[in-house]
Amino acid sequence: MVGQHRRGVRSGRAVRSRRHALPRRPRGRHRRRSRRRAAGHRQRRDPYGAGGRRRGAHLLARARAAGVYPADYRLSAATVDRVVGGRDIIHAGRLDIEIIAAPGHCDGHLVVLLHSAGRSILLSGDCLFAGGKVSLQAIHDCRLDRYAETVIALAARNVDVLLPGHGEQVLRDAGTQIRQAADSFRHLVPPPNVLTG
Ligand SMILES: [Zn+2]
Repeated sequence: MVGQHRRGVRSGRAVRSRRHALPRRPRGRHRRRSRRRAAGHRQRRDPYGAGGRRRGAHLLARARAAGVYPADYRLSAATVDRVVGGRDIIHAGRLDIEIIAAPGHCDGHLVVLLHSAGRSILLSGDCLFAGGKVSLQAIHDCRLDRYAETVIALAARNVDVLLPGHGEQVLRDAGTQIRQAADSFRHLVPPPNVLTG
């Protein structure tokens, strides 16, 4: 929950960043959205509503007080062209872009697995980092049990390259480092926390 939220990026990253700061949506609304997506509607309205924005503002204030963001930082809304969710696959030229639900670091966290020319590249956001590290924070929606499930599931995927939201990139055999994190979770020990070095 650090740098990526400062960058005002449109598209999927913006969706993920906003989800990070906001609570889970009610199920009814999610179902409505799924139908809209299936019908090919482009999603242009604010998917969170005034209540979600108030909750987001509260969480942002906490993060600011904790020093995560500068005191004068303001989170500005991005234009959402298309809302994506876990299991969506987007085809773009020679790229297959797979969206994977990855809760644990926070509710609603998504990662993106790019499939291109026989290689798989994981854009892991704040979920996984080089060295098999994770990002654990004392916040309401950082959930160790969900984190374990997420990392163990990702370790079962073939991942060649890991591009995290922060820090070093892993340009080959990234799966080995992801499996290290998964093994740690399997032994009921949280992997090393990227926030503590
Ligand atoms: Zn985060």
